[in-house]
Amino acid sequence: MTEEKTILEAGWNLDNSYACLPQSFFTSQNPTPVRSPKLIILNNPLAISLGLKVEELQSSDGVAMLAGNKIPEGASPLAQAYAGYQYGNFTMLGDGRAALLGEQITPQGERFDIQLKGSGRTPYSRGGDGRAALGPMLREYIISEAMYALGIPTTRSLAVVTTGESIIRETEQPGAILTRVASSHLRVGTFQYVSQWRSDEELKILADYTLQRHFPECKDNEDRYLCLLKEVIKRQAQLVAKWQLVGFVHGVMNTDNVTISGETIDYGPCAFMDTYDPGTVFSSIDMYGRYAYGNQPNITAWNLATFAEALLPLLHEKEEEAVDIAQDAIADYADLYKDNWLKGMRGKLGIFNEEPEDEKLIANLLSMMQKYRADYTNTFRALTFDKPEDTSLFGNEDFTKWYEHWKARLSRQQEGKDSFQELMRSFNPAVIPRNHRVEEALEAAVKGGDYSVMERLLDVLACPYVYSDKQDDYAALPRKSERRYRTFCGT
Ligand code: AMP
Ligand code: MG
Repeated sequence: MTEEKTILEAGWNLDNSYACLPQSFFTSQNPTPVRSPKLIILNNPLAISLGLKVEELQSSDGVAMLAGNKIPEGASPLAQAYAGYQYGNFTMLGDGRAALLGEQITPQGERFDIQLKGSGRTPYSRGGDGRAALGPMLREYIISEAMYALGIPTTRSLAVVTTGESIIRETEQPGAILTRVASSHLRVGTFQYVSQWRSDEELKILADYTLQRHFPECKDNEDRYLCLLKEVIKRQAQLVAKWQLVGFVHGVMNTDNVTISGETIDYGPCAFMDTYDPGTVFSSIDMYGRYAYGNQPNITAWNLATFAEALLPLLHEKEEEAVDIAQDAIADYADLYKDNWLKGMRGKLGIFNEEPEDEKLIANLLSMMQKYRADYTNTFRALTFDKPEDTSLFGNEDFTKWYEHWKARLSRQQEGKDSFQELMRSFNPAVIPRNHRVEEALEAAVKGGDYSVMERLLDVLACPYVYSDKQDDYAALPRKSERRYRTFCGT
């Protein structure tokens, strides 16, 4: 069997619409081959949904492709150019260690970017080595797939391969490549790059491409670029509300890490909150808590304002009018966010209808959770089971009063206990990727070459809402010594 034939048989059906955009949007660049690729993990259900054949991907040619040593037919590898506000400072960036192979057209006719992350240096690498380490790539695999199972829009992970080469971070680490799948890699930072350094004509081309790809419903709209802005605001408001509802802290919400599609991207320093505290920060470099849990909705508003600014030339020919239009659109964000969040919080408490006092009920619970240092996920899990746990929150008088109010509130709706418990189950995950569990899995994998701990964890995280006994062990809290969790950007 010839190599090409094997690769074709893997089911690749690649298109390259991004490569047809103006040259300044990217640099054509093949991945740099690696010494000895080895498949560590393959996402079988994702492969199948993309129309790819699992056995072919597992073959030596398939693994060579996942490592960038062979290029599938139809691919046109490139590194995308983008800019971004990093911690508030505007800078040129671009794919410094990734190659977009092309867009896989699935048997259902959907289009997904296939990107190798850790694939070698590009013109955008600056001082970096273009590579990625095994631990962080497995971490992205675990958390992105957990987010997907939680029902949160996200890029996904198809595979991780090791390269057979070491890379230097603080210590020497095994090199790895992640295959990332995304509905696109268009970022707020992509618009910022074109708006800042390219012509209005090119900005229009990018916006039209984005409309075609993500918002076809806006294409015939008289104000199609305003429609684009409004849709992105809507999707980001939905996204950050979902993060807040499960206690996800992204950690590095720079505008290059904000997608236009509304998918979560870049799983560098992210982590899930255990104890409820709006000030929760995990990233070791986020010194002032810019990206703290409780700040995420405001940061999204700020990021969206910078997106609107990049779009100004398309909103109106007169700048002043363009600014007014953009400000009006941005002004809707606060309500959009709050509506999404409140709907989710009502769901978490089993509430179907709306009463004005609901907000107070929710706020009171959250402030007690903060005061008594309650675990975010397990508090809602216990309420869902209707089995208060032996914790300082559930044991105190404030809570008992709140609990009576809540029960009275539930009785003021038509739906009975079964219905509201079902609603709560669909909003309250029984398990999240707890930091100590993720670390345990990564340590076994990276230090011991034992992937079974990670596989068991992935198995549990794939069904966070089933409420089975199998989950109990994974719902347990970290020991005291494991509680001060820190994440690092230098991945
Ligand atoms: P991130 O912090 O992952 O969002 O990355 C910010 C920028 O740094 C992006 O332009 C990345 O492509 C680039 N980058 C991150 N790590 C590396 C690396 N090891 N080599 C080259 N570029 C990198
Ligand atoms: Mg990034």
